[in-house]
Amino acid sequence: MSDRDEAKPRLATRAVRSGQRRTPEQEQSEPMFVSSSFTFESAEQAAARFAGEEPGNIYSRFTNPTVRTFEERLASMEGGEACVGTASGMSAILSTCMALLNAGDHIVSSGGIFGATASLFSNHLSRFGLETSFVPLTDYAAWEAAIRPETRMLFLETPSNPLTEVADIRAIADIAERHGCLLVVDNCFCSPALQRPLELGADIVVHSATKYLDGQGRCVGGAVVGDAERVGRSVFSFLRTAGPAMSPFNAWVFLKGLETLKLRMRAHSENAQQVAEWLVNQPDVTRVNYPGLPEHPQHELAMRQQSGFGGIVSFRVAGERPAAWRFVNGTELMSITANLGDAKSTLTHPASTTHGRNTPEQREAAGVTEDMLRLSVGLEDPQDIIDDLERGLRAMRA
Ligand SMILES: *Cc1c(COP(=O)(O)O)cnc(C)c1O
Repeated sequence: MSDRDEAKPRLATRAVRSGQRRTPEQEQSEPMFVSSSFTFESAEQAAARFAGEEPGNIYSRFTNPTVRTFEERLASMEGGEACVGTASGMSAILSTCMALLNAGDHIVSSGGIFGATASLFSNHLSRFGLETSFVPLTDYAAWEAAIRPETRMLFLETPSNPLTEVADIRAIADIAERHGCLLVVDNCFCSPALQRPLELGADIVVHSATKYLDGQGRCVGGAVVGDAERVGRSVFSFLRTAGPAMSPFNAWVFLKGLETLKLRMRAHSENAQQVAEWLVNQPDVTRVNYPGLPEHPQHELAMRQQSGFGGIVSFRVAGERPAAWRFVNGTELMSITANLGDAKSTLTHPASTTHGRNTPEQREAAGVTEDMLRLSVGLEDPQDIIDDLERGLRAMRA
């Protein structure tokens, strides 16, 4: 055993062990440091900490030991050099853009992204001289054609929300590299348990920790993972100054979530596969989107790129908005909520909720139709989830 690096722990082990530094109290579980600031031994030490000459805690807007443990654990799971925890998934995306782009820069983004991300790009960043072009996720020629001399960032989610389209991360990373752009991937749907975009050539991974990293619907948070220069220095510097910080309580909850992430993602994937296969055979379901179905257009790619298909299934029903709403109202077990990635199954009508504030053009680009429902398959017994979908279908027909 001459080379300790060869014995680098595997993902499930890093999910449980990485980032922990025991205090002299010798605690087994990670402690929660609920302290807004930290004290110094002397004026000299205070000055050295503020000057960055000595590492250590200063103030929880940017240095909190519980948040740091979460950051180190997630960085090791994604295979990044650095991670910055943020107050939400949206502030992770905002911090990435604010830290790494300048006025006049151009973003090319998949159209099939989270509704608030599309709104951030189109309605907010646009006012500060950052223009965004939207392209279809899997149309690689369209990505290439949308790139201009001032393009600095390509942004995508895969699988996409709510269509579950799967993009070839390596192919888009190649396009980004050829044009000197950064590739940012929102890895919310798969989590590092099922997909690691940095290993496929992405520069930066962003997360809504609110979803699977927590996994039990408790806390809002986010993270940016990447290299030491862009994330460890630039994104960190933006966070330190602008302050969209993760709370230590939330970081502690996410740490505990990471410990069971791999097990949960496997169970979500198994349940979702059963539910999707059942939905396909229902006469009033006109389409089912799930990468684990052989008829999914990118099923082969998903098998190569992901180690599981995840928990999100979307489907279209016979009828328009009233039919979709009758379906939702007819269910009893599933929670009617727009959140996803929870142990509890959740059901939402994207056109009137997550994508309700987008323009009709944005909805069309995201493939969000009035007859579509999105199901985040939880950890209940899959037969009970199927029974509940059956109740929804009956109410829809009535
Ligand atoms: C929820 C979500 C976000 C935003 O995260 P918040 O924690 O709600 O701010 C971003 N991307 C995707 C894919 C999401 O599902």
